[in-house]
Amino acid sequence: MIRVTLLGATGSIGQSTLDVLARNSEAYQLVGVSGHQRLQELLDICIRFQPFYASVPEAAANPFQQQLRDAGCRTEVLAGPAGLEQLAAEPGSDLVVAAIVGAAGLLPTLAAVKAGKRILLANKEALVMSGALFMDAVQQHGATLLPVDSEHNAIFQCLPDHFASQGLAGSGVERLLLTASGGPFRGWSREQLQSVTPAQAVAHPNWSMGQKISVDSATLMNKGLELIEACWLFNLPPSRIDVVIHPQSIIHSMVSYRDGSVLAQLGNPDMRTPIAHALAWPERIHAGVSPLDLVKYGTLSFEAPDEAAFPCLRLAREAFQAGGTAPAILNAANEVAVTAFLERRIGFLQIPETLERVLQLSKVCPANDLQLLLSEDQLARQLARQIIEQFH
Ligand code: NAD
Ligand code: MG
Repeated sequence: MIRVTLLGATGSIGQSTLDVLARNSEAYQLVGVSGHQRLQELLDICIRFQPFYASVPEAAANPFQQQLRDAGCRTEVLAGPAGLEQLAAEPGSDLVVAAIVGAAGLLPTLAAVKAGKRILLANKEALVMSGALFMDAVQQHGATLLPVDSEHNAIFQCLPDHFASQGLAGSGVERLLLTASGGPFRGWSREQLQSVTPAQAVAHPNWSMGQKISVDSATLMNKGLELIEACWLFNLPPSRIDVVIHPQSIIHSMVSYRDGSVLAQLGNPDMRTPIAHALAWPERIHAGVSPLDLVKYGTLSFEAPDEAAFPCLRLAREAFQAGGTAPAILNAANEVAVTAFLERRIGFLQIPETLERVLQLSKVCPANDLQLLLSEDQLARQLARQIIEQFH
């Protein structure tokens, strides 16, 4: 049995992971879960899967433990941020699915890295924020990092086995082609984007996802975060990565080789495929995903991203190039701006505007210390809140 800890069990990735685990229950045992909101769902998960541990926020710990007991469930509650890190590093698990959204996932994901786990990374913000520090810790503690983000998982599947040891030149890889659906506002002008609502922004044409990543997909910030994620995961500069809009979301990304070959990974847009791939790697398991019917789709199309209407892609590229704390600052400002947009305190176009101004006003420093990174994250959040206040 492979013992699995699932951080962010109540989220969209969490639900997809539980579905794959349930289909393969002879091979996988869920030993730990975490949840932050929607604790009734976490309770149902505990009753169904009977994990050893469940991590919840401090204030909810005692009543949650009582509810578990009342339900005859022996799951032990771990409380607050320390409990979450303890859960991530628990010696009784073989792999950790990092599916918390945003910077909140950094410390628990790093705890799993430091415990040398096999980590299935969905929480891209953790890697974007801490970049070199994160990758150094992976090396130092002998952890294994497997990408769950569909694009990075696709690239991982299209790279040769020796890529990690031989790098670009040694493996003949020229470029990565990161595909993007373009989100719900593909083809829209800045003028049209001015008045879009949160409900329109979270209605993604192809994927069903959590709210934050849905807004990120609509602004193209998700692709910006993924560009940075790819630079760290595959150790290459942004100049080697092209973003291609592919509205059908059937090709999940591609690798372009020296000899002109381009390898792509295809499949229906369903996160259970990359999750199942990373769970079983290097083997293959059932994911519950229906077979790809190419004839039904008929046409696969491609276009260039409109960086004038969607500046987030450029902002992410610039932040990566600035290095140090810049990506963490960008990520923090984005989390604040997305929340403000969802609460209807700012308009859609003010999301990139906030990011641009926070980046302009922040001092970028080297990001070789975790405490410093966390305090820069807090500073960028404060600054973003001030800028958002001034919009009124
Ligand atoms: P979601 O909002 O559906 O779920 C987020 C999870 O994180 C929930 O379990 C929630 O309880 C937990 N959480 C939220 N705030 C927390 C906090 N402060 N402390 C601890 N836990 C907290 O999000 P999602 O769509 O499942 O995305 C999760 C991650 O996976 C994100 O980083 C996202 O970018 C990435 N991802 C998601 C998809 C997708 O299809 N949903 C695809 C690729 C990558
Ligand atoms: Mg993705």
